[in-house]
Amino acid sequence: MGYVDLHTHSTASDGSLTPTELVTYAVAKGLTAIALTDHDTTEGLEEATIAGNNTGLEVVPGIEISAQYETGTMHILGYFIDPGNPALRSNLARLQEARRTRNPRILEKLAQLGVHITIEDVEEASGGGQIGRPHIAQAIVKKGYANDVNYVFDHYLTKNGPAYVDKFRFSPEDSISLIKTAGGRACLGHPFTLFVKDNVMLDQMVAGLKAKGLEAIEVYYPDHTPEQTATFLHLAKKYDLFPTGGSDFHGRAKPRVDLGIGYGALRVPYELLDHMKS
Ligand code: AMP
Ligand code: FE
Ligand code: FE
Ligand code: ZN
Repeated sequence: MGYVDLHTHSTASDGSLTPTELVTYAVAKGLTAIALTDHDTTEGLEEATIAGNNTGLEVVPGIEISAQYETGTMHILGYFIDPGNPALRSNLARLQEARRTRNPRILEKLAQLGVHITIEDVEEASGGGQIGRPHIAQAIVKKGYANDVNYVFDHYLTKNGPAYVDKFRFSPEDSISLIKTAGGRACLGHPFTLFVKDNVMLDQMVAGLKAKGLEAIEVYYPDHTPEQTATFLHLAKKYDLFPTGGSDFHGRAKPRVDLGIGYGALRVPYELLDHMKS
């Protein structure tokens, strides 16, 4: 039944392709299905679903929620969510509001560091979707302060960097329950970014999230080493979680990662999506 990509971004968050362009590209790549999993927003899902219906590509309505987690990055993916769910909509609105208050504060910090960009510069980079740090980085590059986005992250915007400003996030438990309230399955995204100290701690963390309703874990991901992939697959089996996979495609915003194949070697069989539907 072919291959799928269960982790993608569009212009609704920080990807560079519109939802329609993303679907068209997935068809060109020969994929059978994609999940659109924009950061903290469902704004792209309607357009992606329509494009999917028009092209015959299966589109899973998804999301990627950034959860509160001190010592690393925890992203909870949601699959098969209902974007019209009132609780989901009102809680995502809180996250949008948190971004709106954070962005000007980042620009103030940058100005103190001698980097002068305006919110209009950033809006232009975002193409009208939700604003994130990648758009701020792109605006800085465009103004000539840096040669590439990675430099800007490393020197200014990385977590706890000189121009970093934290924003409100839901706890892991609340992120999971929000996805479940909206009828979705919650999945621990790219577990390597948790930077958990060792496999014993990781096991405990996954057990804890499972107890809170976690149903899946992202096993296949471009940046996972073979050892990490094996570890996460083992945890999927141990805790009866669906193993999933995806490229985290962002288009030009993350140019080395291609849809469906990541750095070239990624393959996610349709079977994994099929299991989650059962
Ligand atoms: P935000 O949602 O505003 O907190 O921005 C987070 C996004 O920034 C992530 O989803 C990534 O797409 C991007 N990002 C995080 N770290 C880096 C990095 N070092 N280089 C490039 N992009 C990054
Ligand atoms: Fe992103
Ligand atoms: Fe992520
Ligand atoms: Zn992602």
